[in-house]
Amino acid sequence: MSMNSTGRPSSPEKISDNKAKNIDNNKAAALLPDEPLLFEIGNSEICGVDLPDINIDNSYLGGFERKSKIELPALSEPETMRHYVRLSRLNMSIDSGIYPLGSCTMKHNPRLNEQMARLDGFMNIHPLQPINTIKGALELMEELANWLINLTNMHSIALSPKAGAHGELCGMMAIKAAHKERGEQYRNIVLVPESAHGTNPATAAFLGYKVKPIKANKNGTIDVKEVISLLDDNIAAIMLTNPNTCGLFEPDIIEIAQAIHNIGAYLYCDGANYNAIMGIARPGDLGIDAMHINLHKTFSTPHGGGGPGAGPVLFSKNLTPFAPIPFIKRDKNELTLVEHIDNNKSFGRLTAFHGQFGMFVRSLSYILSHGIDGITQAAKDAVLNANYVKARLEGEFSAPFGAQHTMHEILFDDDFLKGTGISTLDFAKAMIDEGFHPMTMYFPLIVHGAMLIEPTESESKYSLDYFCDKMLELAKEAKAGNIERFINAPLLAPRFRIDETLAARKPKLKWEGKEN
Ligand SMILES: *Cc1c(COP(=O)(O)O)cnc(C)c1O
Repeated sequence: MSMNSTGRPSSPEKISDNKAKNIDNNKAAALLPDEPLLFEIGNSEICGVDLPDINIDNSYLGGFERKSKIELPALSEPETMRHYVRLSRLNMSIDSGIYPLGSCTMKHNPRLNEQMARLDGFMNIHPLQPINTIKGALELMEELANWLINLTNMHSIALSPKAGAHGELCGMMAIKAAHKERGEQYRNIVLVPESAHGTNPATAAFLGYKVKPIKANKNGTIDVKEVISLLDDNIAAIMLTNPNTCGLFEPDIIEIAQAIHNIGAYLYCDGANYNAIMGIARPGDLGIDAMHINLHKTFSTPHGGGGPGAGPVLFSKNLTPFAPIPFIKRDKNELTLVEHIDNNKSFGRLTAFHGQFGMFVRSLSYILSHGIDGITQAAKDAVLNANYVKARLEGEFSAPFGAQHTMHEILFDDDFLKGTGISTLDFAKAMIDEGFHPMTMYFPLIVHGAMLIEPTESESKYSLDYFCDKMLELAKEAKAGNIERFINAPLLAPRFRIDETLAARKPKLKWEGKEN
Protein backbone atom coordinates (compact mmCIF):
# COMPACT_ATOMS: atom_id res chain seq x y z
CA MET A 1 0.00 0.00 0.00
CA SER A 2 1.27 3.43 -0.75
CA MET A 3 1.46 5.83 2.14
CA ASN A 4 2.00 9.54 2.06
CA SER A 5 4.20 11.26 4.59
CA THR A 6 1.52 11.05 7.28
CA GLY A 7 1.22 7.27 7.22
CA ARG A 8 -2.32 7.20 5.87
CA PRO A 9 -3.15 5.57 2.58
CA SER A 10 -2.77 8.31 0.02
CA SER A 11 -5.90 7.48 -1.93
CA PRO A 12 -8.76 5.00 -1.56
CA GLU A 13 -7.96 3.14 -4.81
CA LYS A 14 -4.53 2.31 -3.56
CA ILE A 15 -5.80 0.53 -0.49
CA SER A 16 -5.28 -3.09 -1.20
CA ASP A 17 -4.21 -5.04 1.80
CA ASN A 18 -6.32 -6.45 4.58
CA LYS A 19 -5.66 -3.90 7.22
CA ALA A 20 -7.35 -1.19 5.28
CA LYS A 21 -10.44 -3.16 4.30
CA ASN A 22 -12.56 -2.04 7.20
CA ILE A 23 -12.00 1.59 6.55
CA ASP A 24 -14.61 3.71 4.99
CA ASN A 25 -12.21 6.35 3.88
CA ASN A 26 -14.79 8.98 3.11
CA LYS A 27 -16.28 8.77 6.54
CA ALA A 28 -12.91 8.84 8.20
CA ALA A 29 -12.09 12.00 6.29
CA ALA A 30 -15.24 13.82 7.39
CA LEU A 31 -14.01 14.36 10.90
CA LEU A 32 -10.41 13.31 10.53
CA PRO A 33 -9.10 14.81 7.34
CA ASP A 34 -5.58 13.77 6.53
CA GLU A 35 -3.62 16.76 7.76
CA PRO A 36 -0.51 17.77 5.86
CA LEU A 37 2.43 19.51 7.50
CA LEU A 38 2.48 23.30 7.76
CA PHE A 39 5.26 23.23 5.19
CA GLU A 40 2.99 21.41 2.77
CA ILE A 41 0.12 23.87 3.21
CA GLY A 42 2.09 27.06 3.54
CA ASN A 43 4.40 28.79 1.16
CA SER A 44 7.50 30.76 1.98
CA GLU A 45 6.89 33.10 -0.95
CA ILE A 46 3.77 34.65 0.55
CA CYS A 47 3.16 36.30 3.85
CA GLY A 48 0.37 35.32 6.22
CA VAL A 49 0.16 38.68 7.99
CA ASP A 50 0.71 42.29 7.01
CA LEU A 51 3.96 43.58 8.43
CA PRO A 52 5.64 46.86 7.58
CA ASP A 53 8.90 46.62 5.67
CA ILE A 54 11.85 46.87 7.95
CA ASN A 55 15.17 48.39 7.28
CA ILE A 56 17.84 47.35 9.71
CA ASP A 57 20.73 49.75 9.70
CA ASN A 58 21.92 49.22 13.22
CA SER A 59 22.10 45.56 14.06
CA TYR A 60 22.96 44.63 17.60
CA LEU A 61 23.66 41.02 16.70
CA GLY A 62 27.38 41.37 16.16
CA GLY A 63 27.34 39.95 12.67
CA PHE A 64 25.29 36.90 13.64
CA GLU A 65 22.16 38.02 11.86
CA ARG A 66 20.68 35.54 9.37
CA LYS A 67 21.90 36.06 5.82
CA SER A 68 19.71 33.53 4.04
CA LYS A 69 15.94 33.57 3.80
CA ILE A 70 14.17 32.07 6.80
CA GLU A 71 11.75 30.11 4.57
CA LEU A 72 9.03 29.60 7.12
CA PRO A 73 5.73 28.58 5.57
CA ALA A 74 3.31 31.47 5.64
CA LEU A 75 -0.35 30.82 6.41
CA SER A 76 -3.36 32.92 7.19
CA GLU A 77 -4.77 32.94 10.70
CA PRO A 78 -7.69 30.59 9.90
CA GLU A 79 -5.37 28.20 8.04
CA THR A 80 -3.05 28.07 11.00
CA MET A 81 -5.87 27.60 13.48
CA ARG A 82 -7.45 24.81 11.43
CA HIS A 83 -4.15 23.03 11.18
CA TYR A 84 -3.73 22.83 14.94
CA VAL A 85 -7.37 22.07 15.66
CA ARG A 86 -7.25 19.20 13.15
CA LEU A 87 -4.05 17.86 14.66
CA SER A 88 -5.56 18.07 18.13
CA ARG A 89 -8.42 15.85 16.95
CA LEU A 90 -5.94 13.10 16.16
CA ASN A 91 -5.04 12.91 19.83
CA MET A 92 -6.55 10.63 22.40
CA SER A 93 -7.20 12.70 25.49
CA ILE A 94 -8.84 12.44 28.88
CA ASP A 95 -11.52 14.80 27.53
CA SER A 96 -12.41 12.39 24.72
CA GLY A 97 -12.49 9.05 26.48
CA ILE A 98 -11.39 6.76 29.29
CA TYR A 99 -7.61 6.84 29.59
CA PRO A 100 -6.73 3.91 31.86
CA LEU A 101 -2.96 4.39 31.74
CA GLY A 102 -1.76 2.60 34.89
CA SER A 103 0.49 4.54 37.26
CA CYS A 104 -0.21 7.79 35.40
CA THR A 105 -3.51 8.69 37.11
CA MET A 106 -5.18 10.25 34.10
CA LYS A 107 -8.05 11.74 36.06
CA HIS A 108 -10.40 14.48 34.92
CA ASN A 109 -8.83 17.96 35.04
CA PRO A 110 -11.57 20.18 36.52
CA ARG A 111 -12.14 23.38 34.52
CA LEU A 112 -12.36 25.35 37.75
CA ASN A 113 -8.60 24.78 38.13
CA GLU A 114 -8.07 26.37 34.73
CA GLN A 115 -10.16 29.41 35.62
CA MET A 116 -8.17 29.93 38.80
CA ALA A 117 -4.85 29.58 36.99
CA ARG A 118 -5.98 32.23 34.51
CA LEU A 119 -6.73 34.89 37.11
CA ASP A 120 -4.75 37.98 36.22
CA GLY A 121 -2.72 38.11 39.38
CA PHE A 122 -1.58 34.53 38.93
CA MET A 123 -1.17 34.41 35.19
CA ASN A 124 0.74 37.62 34.64
CA ILE A 125 3.44 37.42 37.27
CA HIS A 126 7.10 36.83 36.61
CA PRO A 127 9.57 34.89 38.76
CA LEU A 128 11.96 37.85 38.81
CA GLN A 129 9.35 40.29 40.15
CA PRO A 130 10.22 41.89 43.52
CA ILE A 131 8.97 39.67 46.32
CA ASN A 132 6.85 42.41 47.86
CA THR A 133 4.74 42.49 44.67
CA ILE A 134 3.88 38.77 44.74
CA LYS A 135 2.85 38.21 48.34
CA GLY A 136 -0.41 36.64 47.19
CA ALA A 137 1.47 34.08 45.10
CA LEU A 138 3.67 33.23 48.08
CA GLU A 139 0.61 32.84 50.23
CA LEU A 140 -0.87 30.44 47.70
CA MET A 141 2.35 28.41 47.71
CA GLU A 142 2.39 28.42 51.51
CA GLU A 143 -1.20 27.23 51.63
CA LEU A 144 -0.51 24.40 49.18
CA ALA A 145 2.62 23.48 51.16
CA ASN A 146 0.62 23.37 54.39
CA TRP A 147 -2.04 21.16 52.85
CA LEU A 148 0.54 18.70 51.54
CA ILE A 149 2.50 18.69 54.81
CA ASN A 150 -0.66 18.13 56.86
CA LEU A 151 -2.04 15.47 54.53
CA THR A 152 1.21 13.50 54.63
CA ASN A 153 2.31 14.34 58.21
CA MET A 154 5.76 15.17 56.91
CA HIS A 155 7.90 18.04 58.24
CA SER A 156 8.75 20.27 55.30
CA ILE A 157 8.40 20.58 51.55
CA ALA A 158 10.41 21.63 48.51
CA LEU A 159 8.00 22.93 45.89
CA SER A 160 10.53 23.52 43.14
CA PRO A 161 10.95 20.06 41.49
CA LYS A 162 9.22 19.98 38.14
CA ALA A 163 8.22 16.34 37.76
CA GLY A 164 8.18 13.08 39.65
CA ALA A 165 11.60 12.09 38.36
CA HIS A 166 12.92 15.53 39.29
CA GLY A 167 11.46 15.06 42.78
CA GLU A 168 13.27 11.75 43.11
CA LEU A 169 16.49 13.51 42.24
CA CYS A 170 15.72 16.22 44.81
CA GLY A 171 14.99 13.72 47.60
CA MET A 172 18.01 11.58 46.85
CA MET A 173 20.27 14.66 46.70
CA ALA A 174 19.11 15.59 50.20
CA ILE A 175 19.88 12.03 51.35
CA LYS A 176 23.31 12.23 49.77
CA ALA A 177 23.95 15.56 51.49
CA ALA A 178 22.91 14.04 54.85
CA HIS A 179 25.40 11.19 54.46
CA LYS A 180 28.10 13.61 53.42
CA GLU A 181 27.58 15.69 56.52
CA ARG A 182 28.19 12.60 58.64
CA GLY A 183 31.30 11.76 56.65
CA GLU A 184 29.65 8.69 55.19
CA GLN A 185 30.25 9.30 51.50
CA TYR A 186 31.31 5.65 51.21
CA ARG A 187 27.64 4.64 51.19
CA ASN A 188 27.27 3.83 47.52
CA ILE A 189 24.32 1.45 47.19
CA VAL A 190 20.61 2.17 46.76
CA LEU A 191 18.10 -0.67 47.07
CA VAL A 192 15.30 -0.59 44.49
CA PRO A 193 12.52 -3.18 44.06
CA GLU A 194 12.44 -4.94 40.69
CA SER A 195 8.91 -3.62 40.16
CA ALA A 196 10.02 0.03 40.47
CA HIS A 197 9.40 2.67 37.83
CA GLY A 198 12.49 3.13 35.65
CA THR A 199 13.07 6.62 37.02
CA ASN A 200 14.00 5.17 40.46
CA PRO A 201 17.11 3.23 39.39
CA ALA A 202 17.89 5.99 36.87
CA THR A 203 17.87 8.62 39.64
CA ALA A 204 20.12 6.53 41.87
CA ALA A 205 22.53 5.80 39.02
CA PHE A 206 22.56 9.47 37.96
CA LEU A 207 23.81 10.38 41.45
CA GLY A 208 26.57 7.80 41.22
CA TYR A 209 24.97 5.05 43.31
CA LYS A 210 25.01 1.36 42.50
CA VAL A 211 21.51 -0.04 42.24
CA LYS A 212 20.77 -3.31 43.99
CA PRO A 213 17.44 -4.89 43.07
CA ILE A 214 15.02 -6.27 45.66
CA LYS A 215 12.98 -9.28 44.58
CA ALA A 216 9.23 -9.23 45.08
CA ASN A 217 7.59 -12.09 46.99
CA LYS A 218 4.83 -14.26 45.51
CA ASN A 219 2.23 -11.67 46.50
CA GLY A 220 3.90 -8.92 44.47
CA THR A 221 5.23 -6.99 47.48
CA ILE A 222 8.55 -6.64 49.33
CA ASP A 223 9.33 -8.69 52.46
CA VAL A 224 11.17 -7.00 55.30
CA LYS A 225 13.25 -10.21 55.61
CA GLU A 226 14.41 -9.86 52.01
CA VAL A 227 15.38 -6.23 52.66
CA ILE A 228 17.29 -7.11 55.84
CA SER A 229 19.23 -9.80 53.97
CA LEU A 230 20.52 -7.08 51.60
CA LEU A 231 21.56 -4.53 54.24
CA ASP A 232 25.15 -3.57 54.93
CA ASP A 233 27.13 -0.44 55.84
CA ASN A 234 27.29 0.71 52.24
CA ILE A 235 23.56 1.11 51.80
CA ALA A 236 22.59 4.77 51.40
CA ALA A 237 18.85 4.41 50.92
CA ILE A 238 15.96 2.32 49.73
CA MET A 239 13.55 3.68 47.14
CA LEU A 240 10.12 2.19 47.64
CA THR A 241 6.87 2.92 45.83
CA ASN A 242 3.76 2.66 47.99
CA PRO A 243 1.20 1.61 46.84
CA ASN A 244 3.62 -0.19 44.55
CA THR A 245 3.47 -0.49 40.77
CA CYS A 246 1.48 -3.72 41.00
CA GLY A 247 -1.27 -1.65 42.64
CA LEU A 248 -0.58 -3.23 46.04
CA PHE A 249 0.08 -1.62 49.39
CA GLU A 250 3.47 -2.61 50.84
CA PRO A 251 2.38 -4.08 54.20
CA ASP A 252 5.91 -4.30 55.67
CA ILE A 253 6.73 -0.64 55.08
CA ILE A 254 7.01 0.34 58.77
CA GLU A 255 9.36 -2.59 59.52
CA ILE A 256 11.35 -1.82 56.38
CA ALA A 257 11.73 1.82 57.51
CA GLN A 258 12.95 0.67 60.94
CA ALA A 259 15.48 -1.74 59.43
CA ILE A 260 16.77 0.95 57.08
CA HIS A 261 17.03 3.56 59.84
CA ASN A 262 18.86 1.08 62.11
CA ILE A 263 21.78 1.04 59.71
CA GLY A 264 21.78 4.84 59.26
CA ALA A 265 20.20 4.81 55.78
CA TYR A 266 17.03 6.55 54.54
CA LEU A 267 13.68 5.57 53.08
CA TYR A 268 12.75 7.40 49.89
CA CYS A 269 9.15 6.85 48.83
CA ASP A 270 8.06 7.26 45.24
CA GLY A 271 4.70 8.92 45.86
CA ALA A 272 3.35 8.67 42.31
CA ASN A 273 0.57 6.43 43.61
CA TYR A 274 -0.45 8.70 46.49
CA ASN A 275 -3.84 9.02 44.76
CA ALA A 276 -4.84 5.72 46.43
CA ILE A 277 -4.12 6.73 50.03
CA MET A 278 -4.49 10.51 50.28
CA GLY A 279 -6.51 11.45 53.33
CA ILE A 280 -6.34 7.85 54.55
CA ALA A 281 -2.71 6.91 55.33
CA ARG A 282 -0.01 9.48 56.15
CA PRO A 283 3.46 8.77 54.74
CA GLY A 284 5.00 10.54 57.77
CA ASP A 285 3.50 7.81 59.98
CA LEU A 286 5.16 5.10 57.91
CA GLY A 287 8.76 6.15 58.55
CA ILE A 288 9.31 7.80 55.18
CA ASP A 289 12.18 10.34 55.01
CA ALA A 290 11.45 11.88 51.63
CA MET A 291 8.64 11.49 49.11
CA HIS A 292 7.60 13.27 45.97
CA ILE A 293 4.01 13.91 45.01
CA ASN A 294 3.10 14.16 41.35
CA LEU A 295 0.69 17.10 41.41
CA HIS A 296 -0.10 16.24 37.79
CA LYS A 297 -1.30 12.78 38.78
CA THR A 298 -2.77 12.96 42.27
CA PHE A 299 -3.96 16.55 42.24
CA SER A 300 -5.48 16.67 38.76
CA THR A 301 -3.24 19.09 36.89
CA PRO A 302 -3.21 18.27 33.17
CA HIS A 303 -0.26 16.22 31.95
CA GLY A 304 0.87 14.08 29.08
CA GLY A 305 0.31 16.38 26.14
CA GLY A 306 -1.65 18.77 28.33
CA GLY A 307 0.87 20.55 30.47
CA PRO A 308 4.01 20.41 32.55
CA GLY A 309 4.40 18.27 35.65
CA ALA A 310 5.16 19.35 39.20
CA GLY A 311 6.83 17.07 41.74
CA PRO A 312 7.09 18.69 45.18
CA VAL A 313 9.11 16.70 47.70
CA LEU A 314 8.15 16.24 51.34
CA PHE A 315 10.84 15.71 53.95
CA SER A 316 11.01 14.21 57.44
CA LYS A 317 12.37 16.34 60.29
CA ASN A 318 15.79 14.61 60.01
CA LEU A 319 16.20 15.40 56.33
CA THR A 320 14.76 18.92 56.41
CA PRO A 321 18.12 20.73 56.95
CA PHE A 322 19.37 19.15 53.72
CA ALA A 323 16.40 20.19 51.57
CA PRO A 324 16.97 22.61 48.70
CA ILE A 325 16.37 26.34 48.52
CA PRO A 326 14.20 28.26 47.89
CA PHE A 327 11.49 27.72 50.47
CA ILE A 328 8.81 29.89 52.01
CA LYS A 329 9.13 31.14 55.54
CA ARG A 330 6.58 32.95 57.67
CA ASP A 331 7.79 35.31 60.38
CA LYS A 332 4.76 36.53 62.29
CA ASN A 333 2.68 37.82 59.41
CA GLU A 334 5.50 38.35 56.97
CA LEU A 335 6.04 35.83 54.17
CA THR A 336 9.47 35.56 52.60
CA LEU A 337 11.14 33.35 50.07
CA VAL A 338 14.38 32.03 51.54
CA GLU A 339 16.92 31.94 48.74
CA HIS A 340 20.15 31.81 50.75
CA ILE A 341 21.01 29.87 53.89
CA ASP A 342 24.37 29.62 55.57
CA ASN A 343 24.07 26.30 57.38
CA ASN A 344 26.01 24.55 54.63
CA LYS A 345 23.66 21.60 54.90
CA SER A 346 21.11 22.32 52.17
CA PHE A 347 22.26 20.78 48.94
CA GLY A 348 21.51 24.08 47.24
CA ARG A 349 19.28 25.06 44.38
CA LEU A 350 17.59 22.60 42.05
CA THR A 351 15.94 24.96 39.57
CA ALA A 352 16.34 28.56 38.51
CA PHE A 353 13.07 29.71 40.05
CA HIS A 354 10.38 28.48 42.40
CA GLY A 355 8.62 25.64 40.57
CA GLN A 356 5.61 25.24 38.30
CA PHE A 357 3.48 27.99 39.74
CA GLY A 358 0.52 27.43 37.40
CA MET A 359 0.35 23.85 38.62
CA PHE A 360 0.37 25.02 42.24
CA VAL A 361 -2.72 27.12 41.51
CA ARG A 362 -4.48 24.20 39.82
CA SER A 363 -3.68 21.69 42.59
CA LEU A 364 -4.70 24.06 45.36
CA SER A 365 -7.92 24.72 43.47
CA TYR A 366 -8.51 20.96 43.34
CA ILE A 367 -7.71 20.58 47.04
CA LEU A 368 -9.86 23.48 48.22
CA SER A 369 -12.81 22.52 46.05
CA HIS A 370 -12.71 18.98 47.46
CA GLY A 371 -11.84 19.67 51.09
CA ILE A 372 -10.35 16.93 53.22
CA ASP A 373 -13.55 14.87 53.04
CA GLY A 374 -13.63 15.14 49.25
CA ILE A 375 -9.96 14.21 48.93
CA THR A 376 -10.47 11.16 51.11
CA GLN A 377 -13.54 10.22 49.08
CA ALA A 378 -11.56 10.56 45.85
CA ALA A 379 -8.97 8.06 47.14
CA LYS A 380 -11.71 5.65 48.22
CA ASP A 381 -13.48 5.95 44.87
CA ALA A 382 -10.23 5.38 42.98
CA VAL A 383 -9.72 2.15 44.91
CA LEU A 384 -13.37 1.14 44.56
CA ASN A 385 -13.33 1.74 40.79
CA ALA A 386 -10.16 -0.31 40.38
CA ASN A 387 -11.57 -3.21 42.37
CA TYR A 388 -14.81 -3.03 40.39
CA VAL A 389 -12.90 -3.28 37.11
CA LYS A 390 -10.78 -6.09 38.57
CA ALA A 391 -13.85 -8.04 39.66
CA ARG A 392 -15.48 -7.66 36.25
CA LEU A 393 -12.40 -8.60 34.20
CA GLU A 394 -10.89 -11.29 36.41
CA GLY A 395 -12.73 -14.18 34.74
CA GLU A 396 -11.24 -13.53 31.30
CA PHE A 397 -7.95 -11.85 32.18
CA SER A 398 -5.13 -13.31 34.25
CA ALA A 399 -4.11 -11.61 37.52
CA PRO A 400 -0.57 -12.63 38.48
CA PHE A 401 -0.94 -12.12 42.21
CA GLY A 402 -4.21 -13.92 42.75
CA ALA A 403 -7.51 -12.85 44.17
CA GLN A 404 -6.29 -10.20 46.62
CA HIS A 405 -7.85 -6.76 46.54
CA THR A 406 -6.01 -4.10 44.68
CA MET A 407 -5.46 -0.43 45.47
CA HIS A 408 -6.09 2.13 42.71
CA GLU A 409 -4.90 0.07 39.74
CA ILE A 410 -5.07 -3.48 38.47
CA LEU A 411 -2.22 -5.55 37.14
CA PHE A 412 -2.86 -8.35 34.63
CA ASP A 413 -0.29 -10.43 32.75
CA ASP A 414 -0.53 -12.03 29.30
CA ASP A 415 -1.19 -15.56 30.53
CA PHE A 416 -4.77 -15.38 29.21
CA LEU A 417 -3.40 -14.78 25.70
CA LYS A 418 -1.21 -17.90 25.73
CA GLY A 419 -1.48 -19.86 22.47
CA THR A 420 -3.55 -17.15 20.73
CA GLY A 421 -0.65 -15.61 18.81
CA ILE A 422 -1.76 -12.25 20.21
CA SER A 423 0.57 -10.17 22.37
CA THR A 424 -0.08 -7.49 24.96
CA LEU A 425 0.89 -4.94 22.30
CA ASP A 426 -1.67 -6.34 19.81
CA PHE A 427 -4.33 -6.26 22.50
CA ALA A 428 -3.51 -2.65 23.38
CA LYS A 429 -3.70 -1.64 19.71
CA ALA A 430 -7.14 -3.24 19.39
CA MET A 431 -8.28 -1.10 22.33
CA ILE A 432 -7.51 1.99 20.24
CA ASP A 433 -10.09 0.80 17.68
CA GLU A 434 -12.61 0.67 20.52
CA GLY A 435 -11.93 4.33 21.37
CA PHE A 436 -9.78 3.79 24.44
CA HIS A 437 -6.30 4.90 25.23
CA PRO A 438 -4.48 1.64 26.00
CA MET A 439 -3.52 0.75 29.51
CA THR A 440 0.14 0.82 30.55
CA MET A 441 1.92 -2.10 28.90
CA TYR A 442 4.98 -4.18 29.77
CA PHE A 443 5.37 -2.33 33.07
CA PRO A 444 6.06 -3.34 35.79
CA LEU A 445 8.70 -5.70 34.47
CA ILE A 446 8.15 -8.41 37.07
CA VAL A 447 5.22 -10.00 35.26
CA HIS A 448 5.16 -11.20 31.66
CA GLY A 449 3.36 -8.95 29.18
CA ALA A 450 2.04 -6.66 31.92
CA MET A 451 -1.22 -4.73 31.48
CA LEU A 452 -1.66 -2.10 34.18
CA ILE A 453 -5.11 -0.51 34.29
CA GLU A 454 -5.92 2.58 36.36
CA PRO A 455 -9.49 3.81 35.97
CA THR A 456 -9.19 6.69 38.53
CA GLU A 457 -12.04 8.04 40.63
CA SER A 458 -13.36 10.30 37.89
CA GLU A 459 -14.94 7.50 35.82
CA SER A 460 -18.62 6.81 36.37
CA LYS A 461 -20.11 3.32 36.67
CA TYR A 462 -21.50 3.75 33.16
CA SER A 463 -18.07 4.45 31.69
CA LEU A 464 -16.44 1.63 33.69
CA ASP A 465 -19.09 -0.81 32.48
CA TYR A 466 -18.68 0.31 28.90
CA PHE A 467 -14.92 -0.18 29.21
CA CYS A 468 -15.26 -3.58 30.89
CA ASP A 469 -17.80 -4.81 28.31
CA LYS A 470 -15.42 -3.95 25.48
CA MET A 471 -12.42 -5.43 27.27
CA LEU A 472 -14.29 -8.69 27.90
CA GLU A 473 -15.41 -8.80 24.27
CA LEU A 474 -11.83 -8.33 23.11
CA ALA A 475 -10.53 -11.03 25.48
CA LYS A 476 -13.19 -13.48 24.24
CA GLU A 477 -12.39 -12.70 20.60
CA ALA A 478 -8.70 -13.19 21.24
CA LYS A 479 -9.34 -16.59 22.78
CA ALA A 480 -11.75 -17.52 19.97
CA GLY A 481 -8.91 -17.02 17.48
CA ASN A 482 -10.10 -13.82 15.79
CA ILE A 483 -6.50 -12.81 15.36
CA GLU A 484 -7.20 -10.33 12.54
CA ARG A 485 -8.85 -7.90 14.92
CA PHE A 486 -5.59 -7.66 16.82
CA ILE A 487 -2.46 -8.17 14.80
CA ASN A 488 -3.05 -5.32 12.39
CA ALA A 489 -4.84 -3.03 14.81
CA PRO A 490 -5.48 -0.17 14.98
CA LEU A 491 -7.59 -0.26 11.84
CA LEU A 492 -9.81 2.72 12.58
CA ALA A 493 -7.29 5.20 13.91
CA PRO A 494 -5.73 7.99 11.85
CA ARG A 495 -2.48 6.00 11.94
CA PHE A 496 -2.08 2.24 11.47
CA ARG A 497 0.51 0.10 13.17
CA ILE A 498 3.70 2.05 12.94
CA ASP A 499 7.20 0.81 13.58
CA GLU A 500 7.62 2.46 16.95
CA THR A 501 11.24 1.44 17.36
CA LEU A 502 12.16 2.97 14.03
CA ALA A 503 10.14 6.08 14.84
CA ALA A 504 11.98 6.47 18.16
CA ARG A 505 15.43 5.65 16.83
CA LYS A 506 15.26 7.49 13.54
CA PRO A 507 12.83 10.34 14.02
CA LYS A 508 12.40 12.61 11.02
CA LEU A 509 13.06 15.96 12.64
CA LYS A 510 13.70 18.03 9.58
CA TRP A 511 11.53 19.09 6.69
CA GLU A 512 13.31 17.93 3.60
CA GLY A 513 11.03 19.21 0.92
CA LYS A 514 7.95 17.83 -0.73
CA GLU A 515 8.14 14.14 -1.49
CA ASN A 516 6.64 14.35 -4.94
C1 LIG B 1 4.90 8.80 36.82
C2 LIG B 1 5.79 8.05 37.72
C3 LIG B 1 7.09 8.50 38.02
C4 LIG B 1 7.74 9.68 37.33
O1 LIG B 1 7.01 10.85 37.39
P1 LIG B 1 7.17 11.96 36.24
O2 LIG B 1 6.34 13.09 36.72
O3 LIG B 1 6.65 11.32 34.98
O4 LIG B 1 8.62 12.29 36.13
C5 LIG B 1 7.83 7.80 38.94
N1 LIG B 1 7.34 6.68 39.51
C6 LIG B 1 6.10 6.21 39.24
C7 LIG B 1 5.61 4.98 39.95
C8 LIG B 1 5.29 6.87 38.33
O5 LIG B 1 4.08 6.40 38.04
